[in-house]
Amino acid sequence: MLSPSEPRYVRVVIDRAIHRELDYAVPETLAERVNIGSRLRVPFREKSALATVLALLDQSDAKGIRPIEAIVGEAPILTEQLLELAKWMAPYYCCPIETVIRSLLPQVVRKAEVGWKKQLFVQPAGEIASEEIEKLRRRAPRQAELLEVIKRLEQPVRATELLRQTALDNQTLRALVKRGLAQLREEAVPRDPHGDEQFVGTTSLGLNREQEAALREITSAFGSPENASPILLHGVTGSGKTEIYLQAIRSALDLGRTAIVLVPEISLTPQTVERFKGRFNDSPDIVAVLHSHLSEGERHDEWHKIHSGRARIVVGARSAVFAPLQNLGLIVVDEEHEGTYKQEEAPRYHARDVAVMRAKIEKCIILLGSATPSLESYHNATRGKYRLLNLTQRVDEGQMPLMRIVDLRQERRREKAAAILSEKLRSAIADRLEKREQTILFLNRRGFSTSLLCSNCGQACDCPNCSVGLTFHRHVARLNCHLCGHTAAVPKKCPSCGQDALIYVGFGTEKVEATVAHLFPSAAIRRMDADSMTRKEAYRETLRSFRAGQIDILVGTQMIAKGLHFPNVTLVGIINADLALHLPDFRAGERTFQLLTQVAGRAGRGETPGEVFVQTYTPFSPSIQFARHHDFAGYFEQELEFRERCDFPPFKHAILITIRCPHEARAKLSAETLRRRLKEALGPEFTLGEATPAPLEKLQGQFRFHILMRGQAIMRLSRLVRATLDKLPFPEDVAVAVDVDPYQLL
Ligand SMILES: [Zn+2]
Ligand SMILES: [Zn+2]
Repeated sequence: MLSPSEPRYVRVVIDRAIHRELDYAVPETLAERVNIGSRLRVPFREKSALATVLALLDQSDAKGIRPIEAIVGEAPILTEQLLELAKWMAPYYCCPIETVIRSLLPQVVRKAEVGWKKQLFVQPAGEIASEEIEKLRRRAPRQAELLEVIKRLEQPVRATELLRQTALDNQTLRALVKRGLAQLREEAVPRDPHGDEQFVGTTSLGLNREQEAALREITSAFGSPENASPILLHGVTGSGKTEIYLQAIRSALDLGRTAIVLVPEISLTPQTVERFKGRFNDSPDIVAVLHSHLSEGERHDEWHKIHSGRARIVVGARSAVFAPLQNLGLIVVDEEHEGTYKQEEAPRYHARDVAVMRAKIEKCIILLGSATPSLESYHNATRGKYRLLNLTQRVDEGQMPLMRIVDLRQERRREKAAAILSEKLRSAIADRLEKREQTILFLNRRGFSTSLLCSNCGQACDCPNCSVGLTFHRHVARLNCHLCGHTAAVPKKCPSCGQDALIYVGFGTEKVEATVAHLFPSAAIRRMDADSMTRKEAYRETLRSFRAGQIDILVGTQMIAKGLHFPNVTLVGIINADLALHLPDFRAGERTFQLLTQVAGRAGRGETPGEVFVQTYTPFSPSIQFARHHDFAGYFEQELEFRERCDFPPFKHAILITIRCPHEARAKLSAETLRRRLKEALGPEFTLGEATPAPLEKLQGQFRFHILMRGQAIMRLSRLVRATLDKLPFPEDVAVAVDVDPYQLL
């Protein structure tokens, strides 16, 4: 395809999923400004639509070709490299390119409706003679007063600011403008999400031998990035991975290049932002931050800060992998094993995998870091596809925490009632309270009681829309569904048999908090989960007071599991290690190992070594035993063997199709029909599972069926699935979702 400098035609995708590319003519007056990646307004059917230019053409065979209407924005919005990435993602993730481009560009940029925040600035209109002011003083004393101030201005000031200071009104100012004595000018004012914060500058820390060796390997790859393989940095918790990222980024900047740092949304804490903004303060705009809590305006400004080249480092969650940086030198994916890198709506991409592909396209270095690498990445490293760098020591010779397993079966025999806190954990907490050290208690389940059961007829109070039980939340005294948000009053009697026999079963963080408060009445306790952290500042406040030592015991969900660093925490209690282990998912063991290792990593980050209590009913499960001995290699080997035996990733790719419909029979029929068509289309090299009800059969009022496929040649499998789906008309109320390399099998 030609790329003439003044194209006569363009091939575009419009922002609507019509599953095809369209050609438009370029009027001569616009030809000079149209480029690959430009945003356009084009006629589409009876209306107009926004579109992105994929290619410039000399000719087009399309019939009835129409001219484009306008160019939106000044510069092309997507680089050629990002477009190339989109063209890889669409067939890989089995979705139309329009859908990919939609996630490449934040909505606020795509729609181009929100602009810069503009403010009016005042300045004198040329020289103002004193006689002029005197003349004015007789007729309009207030205008004269204002003019006197304006005359003395050394630089333009905000109109609102000027009026506030002089206590004069807008009308007075307008009058001066009308007389041609003052000028108003509109200027863009940045909306900086971290503008009101002060970041203390830091300099590079000294590195230990392992860190130094790792950094050397990374920076030497900058010499010939086109030949470098992806680097996997496997460093135990507390081994100083972030310091390596920071120094590697510095090297990239010194070479005139830019960098992206991806962190899981949940780890994008003020602490993280501070580390990057504190280290890189070469210019005020050098670090841009992208995450889901930005306002539309802030997102617009951060994005354009990156697009214009003022920001050279982007720190962000998943979608920051698409940050429009030019001259990319380094992409860091921190906590690369994290499931939150997987987007659960179309395009269902995995940001780590997309980052690896982007690095390949941009010819830059990619660095994946983790204390518990994913099986996929570690497997790539052991067979030489990735380069493996190890950090086995904590910085400053800190000790790894001591892991103690508490067998809840024995506890139960001794105490009868299902203990939330075992005797051993209780006395460990008491000991820390006495020594004025801090404790973290972890349970990955919110609420007070996890279900309400009838002891007479055995019926549970289930969500009417989903096939799960409702959770009792004591602070609001209501039942809640954690999947669809349905809430209900607590029934007095059993809704099915009418007996007064309802009992609360299971427990969540709310009950742990209540139990701890009961056992240790004088301790300062705080809970941190999605229920208690509804306000944006609550999270920051809680972390601040925990750091300041105003909280003795912090109870929480995964919100507290990741990346937090508190030197005075010497005890971590994992209330129930079995929660993740028994989910019907081939990654259950991997997740448990990762979670235990990560949570345990919160203990003993200071001078005093930490202690971790893991409460479990399955003390001999491999994930728990390997985590206990900090034995990643041992765990990896046995897990890999299991995956190979069962044909699961990393040995085979998987595609999961979910069919949903409010009518069970129709969902089932559609799933079975699709499965039959797939059987005809797929060759014998692919494994095709039966159409089965999903483990979570009903969700938000929809019945769900699954079809799981596995195979080596993922691009081919993806294409065959797409072709099969395109030929099959589904009833209107049936929705089909295709998930390539799925993370959620529920
Ligand atoms: Zn009953
Ligand atoms: Zn529900």
